[in-house]
Amino acid sequence: MGGALYLEPRLGPRLGSLLESDRLLHTLADALGSPLGVVLPDQLAENVERFRSVYRGHHLAGQIFLAHKANRSSALLRRLAATGAGVDVASLGELQHALGCGFAPSLITATGPKDTRFLWLAARTGATVSLDSPAELDQLATLVRAHGLPRVPVLLRLSGFEGAGVKVLTRRSRFGTAVPELDTVLDTLERYADAVELTGVAYHLDTTSAAEKAVALEGCLLALEECRGRGLTPRAVDIGGGFGVSYLADRTQWERYTTELAQAVLGTRPPLTWGGHGYGLREDGGTLRGALGVYPAYRPVAGERYLDDLLSRPATAFGGRPLATLLLEHLYDLHTEPGRALLDQCGVTLARVLETRDVGTGPLWVRLAATAGDIGLEEHGILMDPVLLPREPGPTTGPVETYLFGSLCLESDLITRRTVYLPRRPAPGDLLAFVNTAGYCMDFHATQAQRQPVARKVAAWQDRAGWRWCLDEEYWPITPPGGQQ
Ligand SMILES: *Cc1c(COP(=O)(O)O)cnc(C)c1O
Repeated sequence: MGGALYLEPRLGPRLGSLLESDRLLHTLADALGSPLGVVLPDQLAENVERFRSVYRGHHLAGQIFLAHKANRSSALLRRLAATGAGVDVASLGELQHALGCGFAPSLITATGPKDTRFLWLAARTGATVSLDSPAELDQLATLVRAHGLPRVPVLLRLSGFEGAGVKVLTRRSRFGTAVPELDTVLDTLERYADAVELTGVAYHLDTTSAAEKAVALEGCLLALEECRGRGLTPRAVDIGGGFGVSYLADRTQWERYTTELAQAVLGTRPPLTWGGHGYGLREDGGTLRGALGVYPAYRPVAGERYLDDLLSRPATAFGGRPLATLLLEHLYDLHTEPGRALLDQCGVTLARVLETRDVGTGPLWVRLAATAGDIGLEEHGILMDPVLLPREPGPTTGPVETYLFGSLCLESDLITRRTVYLPRRPAPGDLLAFVNTAGYCMDFHATQAQRQPVARKVAAWQDRAGWRWCLDEEYWPITPPGGQQ
């Protein structure tokens, strides 16, 4: 077999402790069904504190806004409200949810393309509107004037930045106003001064490249200068999200896996995937072509450390001085909108093993009471092993090769196309814990296909007596979080 190719998840102390409470997790899945999402609100508060420490390290003011779209949980949002951090909402439903979870409108930013109802509620309550396009500015100003709404704080979302002298172009975005149109939009903003107030500029780039983000941040600083040259007084730069998560515990496992995957695609070792899937790689006359289209699951720098790194980068148009220094000197506020990174280690998805089937000499077939959409990792290109939580204790037999199938009657319902090595043979009734799913995986793709109910979600926390839990919607950041006293 050539040795097991594990991709072990990185487990922080809190998530690690929860997984050790495997009796509790079995009881929960028995009572509430499989799949089951478990979220850890206190971890989110800890992650906010880590981002804040980077702000403090650079002496920067400004707010951290969680990108709500990454998870629907009420418990997470309510716990976040209690930290004083903000939230970035991208739909009418998310805005209503944020208001109901206790966020003051001054701590809510509405981003993405918006319809009239969404704009109205944002304007009515006083949330900040991150303008997605010049047309949206027209729509918002018309709405404010027609309904006598209070003047709306707005951020101008920009895209299409170009580095000064360096060959770094930020990737094309569907969202925001292109930098060359800045002048025209500022003219319009001045005309609408009775309806909107420009408080800052913004970008969000869906990339792992810090070089691209540095170009965009520098572009925002230049745009702010232009605004101030006109007598406008914006003072915030909102740099969006995309700080990333390192999912795996071990760099060598990741490097070995990707090397062996390439070998498998070339046919110089046995396949590592269902049907020889190459995750973007293919063989062409003995040569490897294509590019590995998965998330870089092991990342040496991610989350708040990525932010720290970005802020320390030099700004070419400003004599090579660090971006953080420039923000500080101008007394600009720095806003961030992390989604995935703030939800790092904040959740786990449990799935029950329904059936195992030996199929010749190939990997063991394992069918789970969950669909690929419920687990979500594959959809997001995250290659990471689940943790096996056996129902009955037993000896560790050594690695077992498996294919993990979902519960839908669809050939394509594979939890992952990867051959997964488990440390022992799973049995019906065991649980697989897919960890670190709170960011995008847990409920982003959940459907009611085949009339199966959407997974339930619980919030879990620790007190002196150990792990406690309640249904997600029953959680409030008070003592006890689920209790009615
Ligand atoms: C999705 C999104 C984010 C969060 O992105 P992550 O990669 O999860 O950090 C932030 N801002 C905006 C505008 C978004 O659309």
